[in-house]
Amino acid sequence: MIFVLLGAPGAGKGTQASLLAANNDILCKISTGDSLRKHVKNKTAIGKKIEEVMTSGKLVSDDILLEVLKCELAECSGKSVILDGYPRNIEQAQTLSNMLNSDSKQKLAKVLLLNVEKTDLINRISGRRVCSGCGATYHIDVSPSQKNGICDGCQGDLVQRSDDSKDKIAVRLDVYENETKPLVDYYKKLGVLEVIDGSQSSDKVYESLQKSLGLVA
Ligand code: AMP
Repeated sequence: MIFVLLGAPGAGKGTQASLLAANNDILCKISTGDSLRKHVKNKTAIGKKIEEVMTSGKLVSDDILLEVLKCELAECSGKSVILDGYPRNIEQAQTLSNMLNSDSKQKLAKVLLLNVEKTDLINRISGRRVCSGCGATYHIDVSPSQKNGICDGCQGDLVQRSDDSKDKIAVRLDVYENETKPLVDYYKKLGVLEVIDGSQSSDKVYESLQKSLGLVA
């Protein structure tokens, strides 16, 4: 089964997808943002093509995303999949649907929308810091590391993502409004959309998601 986590940047999709996959062996997480950042970090052919557009806050081309998604899906073979960050526009939703129609083993089960107010999104993203070593995520006010700028886990340096700066946040929120938000209606019409209040505490959001995914009664 495929579950899609939908929501604006900063809505908590990545955090929740990681928690769900870490705590449930039957789930495999695909985060397209993480996969693309890995390509950039490792300076692969894809990484070199996408670095500029990723830093700008705009979307990477659908062709590249399809290539990345196919690789990631192959690695999740035999498990249910949580998609974090894909699809991001109607074309990608149609690509996903075509892909699933030609693969009888996987079916789109639900699309879970994490709903968060714009001002909260901006606060969450602008205070986010990421470990350059292990990728752990912190927030300077809500969940700071014990030592300023140093990861509690691996002692790596905490950095701000290049697309988390104030000007890039505005671009990313615009991209969400114009390109990704139409997916809310698209999936509503297909009868697979469920809305979750993403402004609750992370624990509460996690609980709601577990229920929606049928992992707890
Ligand atoms: P995220 O970590 O999900 O916020 O994604 C970071 C960046 O990766 C986005 O701003 C885009 O540049 C790129 N990206 C991630 N997923 C997609 C996608 N499905 N389609 C196009 N670009 C994507």
